[in-house]
Amino acid sequence: MIVVLTPHPSTSDVRYVERRVRELGYKPHTIRGAVRTIVAAVGDETKRQTLEVLATLPMVEKVIPIQKRYRLVSREVEPQTYRVRVGSVVMGGPAFHVIAGPCSVESERQILSTARAVRAAGATLLRGGAFKPRTSPYDFQGLGGAGLRILRRVKEETGLPIVSEAVNEKDLDSLIEVADVIQIGARNAMNYSLLEAAARTGRPVILKRGMAQTIEEWLLSAEYLAKNGNHQVILCERGIRTFERATRNTLDLSAVVLAKLESNLPVIVDPSHAAGRHDLVAALSNAAVAAGADGLMIEVHEHPEQAASDGSQQLTHEAFRRLMQGLQPFLRAAGRTKPPAPRRVLHRGKTRR
Ligand code: PEP
Ligand code: MN
Repeated sequence: MIVVLTPHPSTSDVRYVERRVRELGYKPHTIRGAVRTIVAAVGDETKRQTLEVLATLPMVEKVIPIQKRYRLVSREVEPQTYRVRVGSVVMGGPAFHVIAGPCSVESERQILSTARAVRAAGATLLRGGAFKPRTSPYDFQGLGGAGLRILRRVKEETGLPIVSEAVNEKDLDSLIEVADVIQIGARNAMNYSLLEAAARTGRPVILKRGMAQTIEEWLLSAEYLAKNGNHQVILCERGIRTFERATRNTLDLSAVVLAKLESNLPVIVDPSHAAGRHDLVAALSNAAVAAGADGLMIEVHEHPEQAASDGSQQLTHEAFRRLMQGLQPFLRAAGRTKPPAPRRVLHRGKTRR
């Protein structure tokens, strides 16, 4: 941290600040100018009390942090991109993975039909919410346990690993009996007790960016997972709230580039929730590849007009197939490889085709 003193500080003021810096466990290095004096405090801020308290002193103008507040997920600390493994699926390597499926689990017939369609088109993971965090309490809240039982049967039938959202801690145990990847949604991106509980399951986590989260706050949410022993984390940019009303959210592709530069985690893009409309999803997917994303999460429904949630942004099976085809030249240009079809995941460490 850099402690900036008010102009023309007295020698005793400077000595006092240096003493307080030492008391807080840091080593002070003072640079005195004609008008300005700064005290650079050297020491690991994640292991000591913060120096921000010094800003309350009358002779201190401001305290400027230098060190990043996230460490474990920072490329500065660990330059290699972590690979997140879900059975035979490896995210964060050269292969580009597409997670697809409906917003909500509605019936076994619906999930099975969409699972087969997205798998045939090249998706390697199936998404579907059994627990739905809805803005209105009158909207469909998900099938809950019945939805999980459907996902389990469809996983057995198709071999696709399952991505499904956790909305609270109490349902985590039943969720991880089925879900290979826990999704933490935008609304819960700053629910730190849920993040800690999700981390403790040891299961890979897709961490959506909160709709009003800065990139730093998003990476600090990821740091909660890593600090609690789970580095199997995939960041997911899903659009942020802006003044624009033509789209549901605003897809922040610069956040994808920055998250890749700043963090050592794989980053994927969810263009469905970003756009909120199906006709933008394919172009935004192409753009995500160009921005360096490691994968996509796309909502697909056999009959979007009958969907229990997010109908306007879901792609038909045919539109998804076309999207996957259209993506290929972008993937080639970006040097991304096509992943093999997934092998079935068994949680006791065994896999079968
Ligand atoms: C979802 O994936 O269906 C969802 C609710 O997403 P988000 O948390 O990004 O709104
Ligand atoms: Mn949705």
